[in-house]
Amino acid sequence: MTKQTQLCTICPRHCKVNREDVTGFCRETQTLRIAKIIENFQWEEPCFNKGDKGVLAIFFSGCNLGCDYCQNDKISHGGVGTFHTIDQFVHLIEEKQKDASAIDLITPTHFSSALAQAFEKIDKKVPVIWNTSGYETTENIKMVSRFVDVFLTDLKYADDQIGQNFSNCKNYFSSALPAIKLMCRLKKDVYDGEFLCQGVLIRHLVLPGYIRNSLAVLDTIKKHMPKRKISLMSQFTPNGKSKLNRKLTAIEYKTVLAHAEKLGLNNGFWQDFDSSDCGFVPEFE
Ligand code: SF4
Repeated sequence: MTKQTQLCTICPRHCKVNREDVTGFCRETQTLRIAKIIENFQWEEPCFNKGDKGVLAIFFSGCNLGCDYCQNDKISHGGVGTFHTIDQFVHLIEEKQKDASAIDLITPTHFSSALAQAFEKIDKKVPVIWNTSGYETTENIKMVSRFVDVFLTDLKYADDQIGQNFSNCKNYFSSALPAIKLMCRLKKDVYDGEFLCQGVLIRHLVLPGYIRNSLAVLDTIKKHMPKRKISLMSQFTPNGKSKLNRKLTAIEYKTVLAHAEKLGLNNGFWQDFDSSDCGFVPEFE
């Protein structure tokens, strides 16, 4: 058991609660809880599919961010999911990984300690993806890099104040930037054909009305990690609870794409603008 789980400072929120007994902002104890598992999930970027195999997507319950526009609200704040002991999780991965291109750990940060214990026991056959909001500490990234192969990370905001406005978080950018820079130092990109088996992919969801934020995110990537692939997403869908209560417009998205092109950050993935109308968000029970 690490000191982090006894008095939790796993993420930059530093709740300092003992998650044996109580929960912090993420609303989860240290026991792994899984909201949904989807086998052969092919909705991540194409570099995570291998032949006809998609990833084994494991959606963890709870979240250490509090984005008011969250598109997976039922799992991040809804308290749904099934508890798994470390051994149950080890068994689950060992049974299901054979049919997957990779193991996709989605919103895993608050379970880092349990996952580190589990992966010490797992005979890993495929890459592990750490699919994170980017709200991470450098200490945690260093720790999980022992078993993680690919960091699939968001960079949501280029300004702490915007993180405060939408994610109930005073230090998103000042935490995410050093964490992502460290991810890049730890994992160089390695491809097997088109398949990313090790490395870093940086995602950014373009928010309606916040185009200047997106341009600043791109400028940040250009300045600090210009060689990494990025993935721009247009799928924002209003959830009825956020101050962001409309979809992205085509002109907003084109403005962001044009800036990426101008910066030479065009060696990545772009969602079609129509993605804001599609069922990109999986259903959760
Ligand atoms: S992982 Fe959860 S309890 Fe721990 S610091 Fe982050 S939000 Fe708080």
